[in-house]
Order: sequence, then C-alpha cells, then structure tokens
Amino acid sequence: MTASTLARRGLGVTVVERSGDTGRTGAALSVPEGLLERITGLRSEQLPRTLAPGVQSWFAVHTALHAAAAADLGIHFRENTRVVEVGQDTDAAWAVTAEGERIHADILVGADGHRSVTRRHVAPDKSDARYAGQVLWIGVAEESAIGSRGWPASVAFQHGAGYTLIGYPLPGADGSTAPGARRLGWALYDSSRDDVLRGSGALVGSVVQHTLTAPEIPEHTFEELARDARRAFSGTWRDAMVDSIRRRAVIGTPVAEYVPDRLVRGRVALVGDAAHVANPMTGRGFAESLLDAESLGAALSSNPGRGDRTRALLHYELDRLDAVREFVRSGR
Ligand SMILES: Cc1cc2nc3c(=O)[nH]c(=O)nc-3n(C[C@H](O)[C@H](O)[C@H](O)COP(=O)(O)OP(=O)(O)OC[C@H]3O[C@@H](n4cnc5c(N)ncnc54)[C@H](O)[C@@H]3O)c2cc1C
Repeated sequence: MTASTLARRGLGVTVVERSGDTGRTGAALSVPEGLLERITGLRSEQLPRTLAPGVQSWFAVHTALHAAAAADLGIHFRENTRVVEVGQDTDAAWAVTAEGERIHADILVGADGHRSVTRRHVAPDKSDARYAGQVLWIGVAEESAIGSRGWPASVAFQHGAGYTLIGYPLPGADGSTAPGARRLGWALYDSSRDDVLRGSGALVGSVVQHTLTAPEIPEHTFEELARDARRAFSGTWRDAMVDSIRRRAVIGTPVAEYVPDRLVRGRVALVGDAAHVANPMTGRGFAESLLDAESLGAALSSNPGRGDRTRALLHYELDRLDAVREFVRSGR
C-alpha cells in the first residue's frame, strides 16, 4: 500500500521483500470500501473481483494489492531478498541484504512487520514488540466439508472454558459469497499455553519469534483443543473448528504488542506493524497501515523537493504518532 501510494505521487519505489510469494496463508482482514481504488487510483471495474469490501482472507488481500503494485511501472520488486540491516548518512538511506548488497535511496520505509529489522535502526532502545500473554489459534474450514445446519450470516463471538472464539464467514476461493460455498474462518484466544510457545521457540523471553505452524503444534495440544471445542462451543463454528483441528490445518500466532515512541529517524520511517503492533482483537491493524501509507504520501507531496525528504518524514510522524499509540492501547 505504501509503495503504490508513493509511486502514484511520482516517486520511484523499490520494494524489497524476503518472501517469494508462494505458499502463504494467514488469517482474515477487514477490507474497507474503496481500498484498492484509494491505493491504486484505478476504477473498481479494473480491479480483481475477488476483493469485494468486507472480511477477506489475508491471501486474497495480499494477492490483489500485489497485482496492483506489480502493474505500476514506478515500482520495482526485489522478491526473495531479505534485509538484515538498515543505515543512513546525510545523503542517503540504505538496506543491506542477506547477500551483502546495499540498496540506496533518498528515504527508506520499513514496512517489515511486527519483527521489523528497520525498527532496530529507528528505535534501537525499544526495538522489540512484546508478547501480550495470549496465543491465537487460527483455522479455515470449507462450508462444503461441514454440512449444512444453518449457515452463519456474520461475525460471531463465543466464550467458554477460558477461551474466546471468533468466527467470520469468508468468500470461497472463487470469490463466492453464497452460503454453503464459502469458507469459515475462526480464531481462538487462549491465554493458557505459554509452555507450548516456549517449548517450540515461538516465544523467547518476552519477544515473539514466529507463528507456530501445524507440524510444530504438539499432538496433545491438538487433542486438548478438539476436546475443549466440543465442550465449550456450539453450532457451525464449533464444527468448523473441529474440522480444521482434525485436518491439522491450524496455526498458532502469539499475540504481540508495540506502542511506539517514534516513527521516524532522519531518512528512515516505519509504517504498519513495523511502526505499531496492536492486539488483533482491534480488527484495525490493516486499516491503520493504510492510514500510515496515505499520511506518508501526503507529507511527501507537501514537501516535494529531494532536500525536503527528512522534513516530510517528520510531518508524517507528527500526523500519526499520537493516533497509533492510542490505537495500540485500545487493544488492551
Ligand atoms: C492472527 C492475526 C489476525 C489479525 N486480524 C486482523 C484483522 O482482522 N483486521 C486487521 O485489520 N488486522 C488484523 N491483524 C493485523 C494485520 O495482520 C497487520 O496489522 C498487518 O498485516 C500489518 O501489515 P504490514 O504490511 O505492516 O506487516 P506484515 O503483514 O507483517 O508484512 C510484512 C512484510 O515484510 C516482509 N519482511 C519482514 N521482514 C523482512 C526482512 N527482513 N526483509 C525483507 N522483507 C521482510 C514480510 O515477508 C511481509 O511480507 C491481524 C494480525 C494477526 C497476527
């Protein structure tokens, strides 16, 4: 989103991304009305039909944004390229890749998520997001695999046995929103399994290291979750959860939190989860990232000269810092 916003304002952008964009999963995001139009400047009929506003799978959102950015000639993609360090002097900022290459630019924007490498440069005294005491178990089931007994119309919350379960209908892989042909996403808040996170290395000290993939989740944890699901929850959402657990198609994300003291240092700025990490319960991490991108674009437009870049970044920080601090606190 940041790359597209800046490219539309006439800046040449290089995106450096460690992923090869294959085999990604992830949870769900709420897509604001007109998001892609705002980001790309394209009309809705020029955009992918699978990305209607509403709750969408992470993958559908990423695919559509990526396609829009890749079609923009002002953006150069460097995938399968991991940044290990960020630096700057009075003339330029740079990213050092795992291969030792230095990629220079007037400014560098860290959009590298909750374990941001860029944040270490911007806020070296407070560079890690902290574990917030919960793991979120996440799965997606096909409605066609569950069998009908009154399909859910909207997002649902259930509480039981110390858990909170959130269920959200998602379009099918083909974009279908007809009940019976959709997918059912669910997420279970669990504050009782720090031992599983520590045992797998997903949590070290108070710093979240990574999301647990299914092969890392102990067999007894799957069995306990299936037992608790049957006991504590009801209806289609329970069935979706039991189906995902039976297929071992579950991931476990330790919830992290980061309240920033700064968003900018010189020629380097942070956006999205690199800048602020809030409890997913807020449901707003994605929308706040969009606001970061738009604010940064506006700041660079009102300070268009190359010599004005650092001033533009300070305007961005002034515009966003209080709002994002409040956003993260709201997740508590
Ligand atoms: C379980 C869960 C559920 C959520 N649900 C919602 C929701 O319903 N609604 C909502 O609005 N938000 C939700 N969020 C929050 C939302 O996912 C984030 O706010 C959003 O993904 C942040 O986007 P981002 O681009 O800043 O970071 P990410 O999505 O984390 O993207 C960072 C990118 O940087 C790349 N990268 C990282 N490090 C490097 C490196 N060193 N070199 C090169 N590339 C690198 C990564 O590969 C990745 O592509 C949820 C989060 C979680 C964990």
